[in-house]
Amino acid sequence: MFELDAQHIRMGQQAADKDSALAMLGEALVQDGLVAPGYIDGLRAREAQGSTYLGQGIAIPHGTPQTRDQVFTTGVRIMQFPEGVSWGEGQTAYLAIAIAAKSDEHLRILQLLTRALGEKSLDEAIRRADSAEAIVQLLHGAPQELELDDQLVRLHVEVNDLEELAWQGARLLKQTQCVETGFAGALQTNVPLPLGDGLWWLHSDHSVTRPGLAFVTPEQPLTFEGQPLEGLFCLASLGEAHRDLLERLCELLIAGRGQELSHATSSRAVLEALGGEVAPDWPSARVVLPNAHGLHARPAKELARLAKASSGDIRVRVDEGAPVSAKSLSRLLALGARRGQVLEFLAEPGTDAEAALSDLVAAVEAGLGEEVEPISAASAAPLTATPVIETNILARGENTSPLTAGDTFSAIAAAPGLAVGPAYVIAEQRFDFAAEGEGVAVEMERLERALAAVRTEIDALITRSEAGPIRDIFLTHLEMLDDPDLREGVQLRMKRNASAAAAWSAQIDEAAAQQEALKDALLAERAADLRDVGRRVLGHICGVALASEPDEPYVLVMDEVGPGDVARLDRARVCGILTARGGASSHSAIVSRALGIPAVVGAGSRVLALAPKTALLVDGDHGHVEIAPDATRIEQVQVERQVRERQRKEAEARRFEPAITRDGKRIEVAANLGNTADAAAVVEQGAEAVGLLRTELVFMSHDAAPDEAQQERDYRRVLDALDGRPLVVRTLDVGGDKPLPYMPIPAEENPFLGIRGIRLTLRCPEVLETQLRALLRAADGRPLRIMFPMVGRVEEWRQARDILARLRQEIPVADLQVGIMIEVPSAALLAPVLAQEVDFFSVGTNDLTQYTLAIDRGHPLLSGEADGLHPSVLRLIDMTVQAAHAHGKWVGVCGELAADPLAVPLLLGLGVDELSVSARSVPLVKARVRELDFSTAQVCARQALGLASADDVRASVESL
Ligand code: PEP
Ligand code: MG
Repeated sequence: MFELDAQHIRMGQQAADKDSALAMLGEALVQDGLVAPGYIDGLRAREAQGSTYLGQGIAIPHGTPQTRDQVFTTGVRIMQFPEGVSWGEGQTAYLAIAIAAKSDEHLRILQLLTRALGEKSLDEAIRRADSAEAIVQLLHGAPQELELDDQLVRLHVEVNDLEELAWQGARLLKQTQCVETGFAGALQTNVPLPLGDGLWWLHSDHSVTRPGLAFVTPEQPLTFEGQPLEGLFCLASLGEAHRDLLERLCELLIAGRGQELSHATSSRAVLEALGGEVAPDWPSARVVLPNAHGLHARPAKELARLAKASSGDIRVRVDEGAPVSAKSLSRLLALGARRGQVLEFLAEPGTDAEAALSDLVAAVEAGLGEEVEPISAASAAPLTATPVIETNILARGENTSPLTAGDTFSAIAAAPGLAVGPAYVIAEQRFDFAAEGEGVAVEMERLERALAAVRTEIDALITRSEAGPIRDIFLTHLEMLDDPDLREGVQLRMKRNASAAAAWSAQIDEAAAQQEALKDALLAERAADLRDVGRRVLGHICGVALASEPDEPYVLVMDEVGPGDVARLDRARVCGILTARGGASSHSAIVSRALGIPAVVGAGSRVLALAPKTALLVDGDHGHVEIAPDATRIEQVQVERQVRERQRKEAEARRFEPAITRDGKRIEVAANLGNTADAAAVVEQGAEAVGLLRTELVFMSHDAAPDEAQQERDYRRVLDALDGRPLVVRTLDVGGDKPLPYMPIPAEENPFLGIRGIRLTLRCPEVLETQLRALLRAADGRPLRIMFPMVGRVEEWRQARDILARLRQEIPVADLQVGIMIEVPSAALLAPVLAQEVDFFSVGTNDLTQYTLAIDRGHPLLSGEADGLHPSVLRLIDMTVQAAHAHGKWVGVCGELAADPLAVPLLLGLGVDELSVSARSVPLVKARVRELDFSTAQVCARQALGLASADDVRASVESL
């Protein structure tokens, strides 16, 4: 986190020119271990693109996005140049703030600096400052305006007394970053002031970062000290910023208009009465900000310049927030707008500002002087809420009768294998506790004891976890236990008489709900961790033994295994997975399969009511589950497992041999890969090629979009490991259910039918081109196959092909084939046309099944019906193969179906040339091929095409 700190400021520096100053600043960043030496070039390159002079004698040099990988730690180093340094364009910098930022954190520093960039001239003061503390003071201390906008007003809040109301006010001030931890407590110690008309006033200047006023009213009329309590002002006071507001409030009260506030029904009415920031009812235009690094200094400067060209007033706001003047650079920076957020411009009616609206929108779309990847504005428009008919369709038809010993049931087979073990059920637990406590001291001690116990538990988990990501999760949990904010909230609740359990539980709920509301999916996911930690602590306070992890390998029973949970799965401890929800081809199921843990998913919520340690048998091949099987059955399963284990061993022993049917037909068996580090392991499993490199997973392993050089390194690593074997790479396939944190896609109503795969990269050609360049450079004469995902129309293929053809001129490669994935039915239906132009097809059965049967691949209830062996899907595969072979092209299958033992004979029989499966499945798929006769497989495949359902198809090949 960026903060201005006196010890990071070097006073009285001298530099002959900007270049020397940059070298000095860069050196300071290097010396302090924030960046690698290469970052200095980044500072220069950025300056060459445009001056980083901000105004008021301040420059903010920073690296280019390409040099972000040179940043080790985010931070700033500041130098004062009393004699000034010419920063170009006639500007002189007296203070240079060198920023090392891995992502968009620099927006924070810009927000901090906005105070310095106010009206008052600072150049001279900065130049004359004789201590680092004085500089910090200047940057922080410039006059600030009182914050009072929509976000600071909450009406009809459910509270019981003034203390709770004050707490709500303090939360608003915290959320808007006016105050820090410590403010709420200080506020409560002050004496509330009655203003009349049911209005009260509380203020504090403790832990205030910028002045702000919150106004909150209770849902029910309350009283305090015998007087009505209908509204409370909470002031975070700093300097004199609130003086005007106070005067206005007094006038209002003297005029007998206090009830306009205490009885207000909208925040707008409150703001209008108090003269706060209200969005005026002016003509407006909205546009999505496309700049990768948000509205930082350069684009903000450009925007302010354009706005100033109009004599009329132009305001701008972000995501419905308070509007600010678009002509003020400091106000624009203070918005902290990020890529993907909606900017709304409001133009003063009857002036030239109205006409300027469309120009401003166009300028934002064009990047405000920066190169940008466009974002669809239509998809960023807020959705209007429509009344819904409350029917819990999801629960309908679900068998809810409790499970007892001897019960068996079927659900979705998600990962093959047999598992027997005690159930370890992770489900929401109910705790009974008193709402009221026995005094703060007693309750605090209870909490501390529980926290200490949980700390010990987590320490033990950290010691036991071998995998890095799992340790990281638990380390985060430890940090959460010591979060000062959390503690402060709990303490305050205890002071209001809450018991330790009630205070802790409410505080965790509130914090998790806030986290879940964040737009950043990754941050929102952390709410689950918070609830996890919360549950552990509550268990200790209430003396409820939480289901403890069985000592022997267990079957993990959960509602749904999310991608975050998969990282916790330790194969040594989890022998099977059973979930209430989830689908077979959801990405989390794919990861479970990759870990080799037998799994049955979508079994319904009754599995969550299983008693802890109930013995379970999970058959991940057939989707069967048995509850408390008897000893004979367990023995039978053990034998079956031994047989399978033997078969696996035999298959592994022959993993390097080709897959040839008994009558001599060979099919290539390749591996799917998502992590470049695993490439050597894939070869070790007997893969004859990589049939699908999911490059979005490679991208996801980086914190920011990898540049060409980084990608080239990644792809080289795979090609090196393959040692001459072919590599089939799929270009970036994000969108749908695969988000990339640093490539935000505006929310779409139907993401699977929206901008994903090739549709996305064709809209960001520079991303596609960088990736293709990196691939071509990495090839070095080795066999490279590039394919485009989600192609549905011939135009998409041709556009992508042409881009690649152009780049090939620039970077020639010896052995390249170019193809497409067949994932959309239209592509399969058009295969006779496409086959004339492509070098190969690779059938992505996960998506092809989803789009053919119109079933979301991750749908909790329906995805079990999305069976890739449905005759309709087989017919599309058949059309693809026929068309490809007619033109001498090859066809692979890289969806999950390729590893299904019942699907292998059918795909073989349809003439598929290559099967690409998870590395663990390679030996087994090869072994399966060796058991088959190609001629029989062909007959079976023809028959299957004429069948009516997936079940009929499965039954038809059961005996093969
Ligand atoms: C597929 O759709 O079958 C496929 C291989 O792609 P992904 O699962 O990565 O969407
Ligand atoms: Mg796909």
